[in-house]
Amino acid sequence: AKAEGKNQWALFDTERNASEVAQFRLSAAMPAALEREEFYVDYQPLVELGEYTVSGVEALVRWWHPELGRLGPDRFIGLAEETGMIVPLGRWVLSKACEQAKAWQDEFGRAAPFMSVNLAVRQSRDPNLVSDVTEILDRTGLDPGKLQLELTESAIMGTADEPLEALRTLSRMGVRIAIDDFGTGYSNLAYLRHLPVHELKIAGSFMEGLADSECIDPVDARIVSTLVDLAHTLGLTVTAEGVETHAQAKRMSEIGCETGQGWLFAKPGPPDAVRELLTAEQHR
Ligand code: C2E
Ligand code: CA
Ligand code: CA
Repeated sequence: AKAEGKNQWALFDTERNASEVAQFRLSAAMPAALEREEFYVDYQPLVELGEYTVSGVEALVRWWHPELGRLGPDRFIGLAEETGMIVPLGRWVLSKACEQAKAWQDEFGRAAPFMSVNLAVRQSRDPNLVSDVTEILDRTGLDPGKLQLELTESAIMGTADEPLEALRTLSRMGVRIAIDDFGTGYSNLAYLRHLPVHELKIAGSFMEGLADSECIDPVDARIVSTLVDLAHTLGLTVTAEGVETHAQAKRMSEIGCETGQGWLFAKPGPPDAVRELLTAEQHR
């Protein structure tokens, strides 16, 4: 009976731990994967809603895993945050993205898009943030004004003084700061004016209520237009995320939102796909 009980426990443990083991393996594989450059970056255009021209590009990391194939960031960014791997991984993404942005800066000059890079909470609190960004800008030769860093509300609100000071320093260097997924987290709206922020990115979840003109959710629509007004009062620009339909783009444009990002305009893809768009614009 004792042996049986033990087996039951073993079985229970196996089931419960199967995914934990998989997670653990992914975590453990990350340092070598970074070394071997199994990660790569896709780029998604940020499009001016008036002109439909590409004003910026967001860098989105992916992992080409030798056994599991292509993994999206939702599979490994959280793990990387837990282990601290997000700091070297995030630095690698920033470096790749800035190299790419510099290539576009050389080819397209003033019309080159700015590069927007996600910054995890751990990175925003890393004491080497400013020196890492400075080193990467110096090495790549990218104009600091062509770099934007995206932080979530929770990363930027209620942060201690030091990380905030780092963001202020970056902002003084000309680097733009954006709040990602705005409206989904906890924000102290009054406090916003004291933060070194240039742009709000309104979370894609708000677009659902603007799906098509016949069935606009009036509450969502009011929330979104209030957020846009607030941003403008504070002197910030606004990007609508997750724009999938013409109705959403039209509505956001009417509300006064400057920029849109989403499948309607372009999915995340390789640098060449963005380059094609930029080249086509040159000949427009
Ligand atoms: P995010 O920063 O909110 O990035 C936007 C996500 O929305 C991307 O998912 C993008 O592919 C997706 N998306 C774009 N347009 C549409 C649309 O029209 N409809 C829908 N339904 N989705 C759309 P992705 O690439 O899977 O990235 C997921 C999250 O992973 C990102 O969310 C970001 O939080 C995180 N992430 C990605 N790359 C990095 C990175 O380099 N560092 C850090 N710290 N986080 C990253
Ligand atoms: Ca983002
Ligand atoms: Ca977002």
